[in-house]
Amino acid sequence: MKQNCKKCSDEFTLDQDDLSFYEKMKVPAPVVCPTCRFKMRAVWRNETTLYSGRKCELCGKGVISMYNPKSPYIIYCNDCWMSDKWDSNSYAVDYDRNKPFFVQLDELLKKVPKAATYRSTGTGPNINSEYTNFAGGNKNGYLLFNSGPETEDCAYSRGLSACKEIMDGYMVHGSDRVYDSVNVQKCSNVSWSKNVAECIDSSFLIDCFACQDCFGCVNLRHKSYHFLNEPLSREEYRKKVDEIVGSYKKIEEFKKVFQEFSLKFPRKENNNLKSINCEGDYITESKDCQNCLEISFCENTRNSFSAKFSKDCYDVLGHGRKAELMLEVVGSGVGQKVLGSWFIENSHDVEYSFAVKASEYCIGCDGIKNGKYCILNKQYSKEEYEDLRNHIINELREQKLYGLFFPSEMALFAYNESIAQDNFPLTKEEALAEGFMWEDDVQKTEGKGTIDIQNLPDTIKDVGGDQVLSEVLSCIECNRNYKITAQELLFYRKMNIPLPHKCFYCRHKDRLVRRGPYKFWDRNCAKCNKEIHTNYAPDRPEIVYCEKCYQQEVY
Ligand SMILES: [Zn+2]
Ligand SMILES: [Zn+2]
Ligand SMILES: [Zn+2]
Ligand SMILES: [Zn+2]
Repeated sequence: MKQNCKKCSDEFTLDQDDLSFYEKMKVPAPVVCPTCRFKMRAVWRNETTLYSGRKCELCGKGVISMYNPKSPYIIYCNDCWMSDKWDSNSYAVDYDRNKPFFVQLDELLKKVPKAATYRSTGTGPNINSEYTNFAGGNKNGYLLFNSGPETEDCAYSRGLSACKEIMDGYMVHGSDRVYDSVNVQKCSNVSWSKNVAECIDSSFLIDCFACQDCFGCVNLRHKSYHFLNEPLSREEYRKKVDEIVGSYKKIEEFKKVFQEFSLKFPRKENNNLKSINCEGDYITESKDCQNCLEISFCENTRNSFSAKFSKDCYDVLGHGRKAELMLEVVGSGVGQKVLGSWFIENSHDVEYSFAVKASEYCIGCDGIKNGKYCILNKQYSKEEYEDLRNHIINELREQKLYGLFFPSEMALFAYNESIAQDNFPLTKEEALAEGFMWEDDVQKTEGKGTIDIQNLPDTIKDVGGDQVLSEVLSCIECNRNYKITAQELLFYRKMNIPLPHKCFYCRHKDRLVRRGPYKFWDRNCAKCNKEIHTNYAPDRPEIVYCEKCYQQEVY
């Protein structure tokens, strides 16, 4: 079944499996395309835009919060929010059949306290890691997002697990001493690389496996002492590498050389691993998944991002562990039959609710624990609940909102504060035109630099003492001020890496570009002409091969 998206008018297809799934969930088939639906969910997930200067409204302690100080929400520190010092039932209100459901829910969301940041439960506590969000089980972490457990001394990264000393990582697992790299598995001492596994003491690698002492290489397997894919003697290799590493200028020059060089080699249509019948990218050990990005151990899951262990789910964003029959959820897992909800755990039959735990049969609730037959946090008898729920569902069906995520006007965050901007960047005008909010006043400073970035020492060896820790730097790309932390300086010295000339946010954005978009095109394998589905847009300069042709050429 083909139809046009009610929001962007693009054509999208619903196949028989989609229709059966929606039937099973007892919701009408969506009238909005998967990309617009992703944006609608993603504006509820602000990972990296953190604010200081707010106090917990229960204990008065200063908190780092993902909520803009101007936003209308009541913020508690995570300890207070998780404690028994407040009772979500005390916010219960009677349902008013003459008022729209989402208006009443929006009023409730603005009364019930919110946790300052999202702390992942079940992955352990964060120790000495105040500036983290959607994270759990991290030690000495700084600006870490969607990360944990078992990370130590990591910073400026998204999607880390079981890692030690990672700076500027995106999807790094089981590794140590990794810098500015994307999709890294079981590596040690690797910098400026992408799609690498089991590599050691190497830099500028793309799609390499089990390499050691390699620099500027593409598609290599089990190699050592290779420079721009050429074998060298140990001495020659060291000489060439030593001419580049350490120097900011030389590294920047080499980035351009390597970018040009890398285009000579074929790329695989996707980076899926041990997955069967899956379409999407960065899909690991999954089966029968479509239109997914950054998921692992999932089955029969579609349109999902950054999820693990979901089964028979659609439109999951984050978490997803032990989730079954979930549709349009953000940060939810461990449960079944959850629809249009945010951070639901250990629950089933929950709809249009927020931060609900260990509950069943709830609709329009916020912060409820152990609830049953609740609407707007008020408990009803089974019969009353079913009657009122029918009333609500009928209203949402009539408005063609049933089966979609909360309306975007209600979103907790502005488009540019959320991961919607990471994955589908829009200008302010575009975001507003699509019905999203925009925040001009993201917490940052500009023009406070105490040092001219052009005068930063070219190598880390020339950075004497700790004076640089008290300097304020200005990003060469966006002019945002940033500082170097002591932990970071130590890392750069140990790894012989020059000081960054860009702020974290621009560095993060660069890595997202290197990861590739959450968008797929049909094109043909450059070798056998077979049709492939890939996130390399047809006008990209890379040579893209189907899986089979790539394996024949590279292994
Ligand atoms: Zn659309
Ligand atoms: Zn508190
Ligand atoms: Zn910047
Ligand atoms: Zn092919």
